[in-house]
Amino acid sequence: RAKKHLGQHFLTDENIAQKIVEGLSLENYKKILEVGPGMGVLTKYLLEKDAEVFVAEIDAESVDYLKNHYPKLQENHFTGDFLKINIAETFGDQVAVIGNFPYNISSQILFKIIDFYENVPEMVGMFQKEVAERTAAVPRTKDYGILSVLVQALYDVKYLFTVHENVFNPPPKVKSGVIRLTRNPKSGLAGNEILFKQIVKAGFNQRRKKLSNSLKVLEIPESLKNHPFLDQRAEELSVEDFISFTQEWKNA
Ligand code: SAM
Repeated sequence: RAKKHLGQHFLTDENIAQKIVEGLSLENYKKILEVGPGMGVLTKYLLEKDAEVFVAEIDAESVDYLKNHYPKLQENHFTGDFLKINIAETFGDQVAVIGNFPYNISSQILFKIIDFYENVPEMVGMFQKEVAERTAAVPRTKDYGILSVLVQALYDVKYLFTVHENVFNPPPKVKSGVIRLTRNPKSGLAGNEILFKQIVKAGFNQRRKKLSNSLKVLEIPESLKNHPFLDQRAEELSVEDFISFTQEWKNA
């Protein structure tokens, strides 16, 4: 029986499972980490690939099921709670991340991937549609926000397809969206990550205000006070704008 507090909704459509797995490029990595494999609907297709498959599953009952049904999964490839893994130490290597993610921890999963972007060249996964859309959103839309800018500073994001509630057991309350992240760190970000995050967060925390107002909490450097971006709202700036503004701020 599905455990609600673990965000368990099991995909029942094999074609969609295959389509998600086919979203992986399998380029430049030999390890794949599946988050929340549940009863293995994606896992079985992953095991057909020329890669080492690891699984992060928090639910003991699912882990037993996987061990019984997928003998190809190695005992030491079960890594437990995804949010507790140190990806760099555990894999010491490039590892792609895939999953029909538990929706109660969607943002935490994305922020974890960002934290370990040097080890994660690619991610293909299903989120509630709204989170998938926010991650892929472009400037001047209501979905464009902190998640869009922080993820897109490090990854190219592609919205792959939408999945209907009725192909899950039990069905979730909302539609789902599958996205792919391909690592592509934007130039100018390196070394400025902390300030970049602060500016993006402060800007969108008061998204209706001009940046001259919303960024006051960070004490805008004197020499930037007439910067044209300050006359705009956060949602009007591109990811590149946020990065170049951060660089100017750092140099001020
Ligand atoms: N992949 C399966 C499928 O498509 O049918 C299950 C998907 S279900 C939406 C999410 C899965 O994530 C569940 O199996 C749940 O037990 C697991 N899960 C929840 N929190 C987790 C965590 N922190 N780390 C790893 N797995 C987790």
